[in-house]
Amino acid sequence: MSRFLIISNRLPVQINISEDNVEVTPSVGGLATGMMSVNKSFDSLWIGWSGVDREELSEKQVKKVNKALEKEGCVDVNLTAEEVELYYEGFSNKTIWPLFHYFTQFVEYEEEQWQAYKRVNQKFADVIAENMEGVDKIWVHDYHLLLLPQMIKNKFPDVTIGFFLHIPFPSYELFRILPWRDEIINGMLGADLLGFHTFDYERHFMSSVRRLLGYDININEISLPQRIVKVDNFPMGIDYDKFHDSAMESQKRSVRDKSEVRKELERYYLLYPETKFILSIDRLDYTKGLINRLEAFEYFLEEYPQYRDNVTLVLLAVPSRIGVDQYQQMKSEVDEVVGRINGEYSTINRTPVWYFYRSMPFENLVDLYNYCEIALVTPIRDGMNLVAKEFIASKTDGRGVLILSEMAGASKEMSEALIINPNDKAEIATAIKTAIEMPLDEQVERNTVLQKRLKRYNVEKWATDFLSSLDKARQNEEQYL
Ligand code: UDP
Repeated sequence: MSRFLIISNRLPVQINISEDNVEVTPSVGGLATGMMSVNKSFDSLWIGWSGVDREELSEKQVKKVNKALEKEGCVDVNLTAEEVELYYEGFSNKTIWPLFHYFTQFVEYEEEQWQAYKRVNQKFADVIAENMEGVDKIWVHDYHLLLLPQMIKNKFPDVTIGFFLHIPFPSYELFRILPWRDEIINGMLGADLLGFHTFDYERHFMSSVRRLLGYDININEISLPQRIVKVDNFPMGIDYDKFHDSAMESQKRSVRDKSEVRKELERYYLLYPETKFILSIDRLDYTKGLINRLEAFEYFLEEYPQYRDNVTLVLLAVPSRIGVDQYQQMKSEVDEVVGRINGEYSTINRTPVWYFYRSMPFENLVDLYNYCEIALVTPIRDGMNLVAKEFIASKTDGRGVLILSEMAGASKEMSEALIINPNDKAEIATAIKTAIEMPLDEQVERNTVLQKRLKRYNVEKWATDFLSSLDKARQNEEQYL
């Protein structure tokens, strides 16, 4: 059996250490699920950072961590606290993340962070080199490792390399701002196949390659002097059945077994049956457009007073990257705007915004998706946005309305949603009104189409499509040589 390596910044595991006990639990994110299906056909190994600082551990604990990771098919790239600060929080999240999401005002240009980024990419390449026995294929993931494909290709020219970018690739006019743009593009071009969520990101990448490096481009192939690189779009899906089936089960549960979230929502609904719950879920990140969303909701309450007593915005903001300044500042802003809206529009019985600053377990998320009538997903920029897809998958009776930003990659596949411009408060407010008033048969009609599509293009299909294109890319390349 051929050996296959999956490389990402973080390993798909959660490690809890207490004294002598080391617990490693597999995480349940989309990428891990997609890979699980692929894993079955390969003898695969996942290489990434475990999130644990080994310098803080005793020798005995380190051994236990290694053993537990090995059992999960994982190998750790050990990062020091300084590397995490400069490569992860620094160059990845203070340079690439804001620039690729068009937030140029937040981009830092720090040579020290760039050097650390290069060093850590090389560190990944070294760990890969130690694990290359029998390996013929490698799949590298995301913006933390843009230089890695070329580093691997230099050392192992015969190995097939795929790279997938999980965030947008910006237009050339943005990308060119970066002082290290040529190195980054060259790093990515080490892959045999480059995958993006949408055709637009793919096009932006091609345009940067042509303008910066002058290579010939033929539809979706780039001709380098020695070989061809294939570029294509693979919109990432979700584990559709997991969301749909869990929502079904949750509905059927007896009162005693229901989650607290569901019980609360149902209790409230019994008291106020006119209520429409509007759901908003994301990491607290400036790209997600939380302030715009809240202001649009405020505008809606102002403009359409007849609905003031009927709507509740359930706002789940998941803490994220708390070490980065902009994220702390955003938290204060969100607190302030929520306070302002609730101060203005609360009554004795009603609070317009229910605000949760935490993450929720899967079962509660599904309950929120399943129970809330409307989802308000309004990122300013988003590579894909899985929340939009998970909401639709959890609508067991086909009812519900998704309001979705045109700036999310997901909007390309979900045109049956109410598509809005996240900077247009009036348009969002009108969409909320349209959603509240939408006849049930129209809701079902729109969602049936969406559900069929999401079920077919689930995360498993995404992963297998990418890998079969990778095999083909390599075969074509061999013909060319
Ligand atoms: N999510 C979660 N716990 C929470 C809230 C959200 O695990 O409390 C998950 C959600 O199910 C989704 C992911 O976080 O799969 C968010 O993915 P998305 O693509 O929407 O945004 P990202 O955070 O990757 O930018």
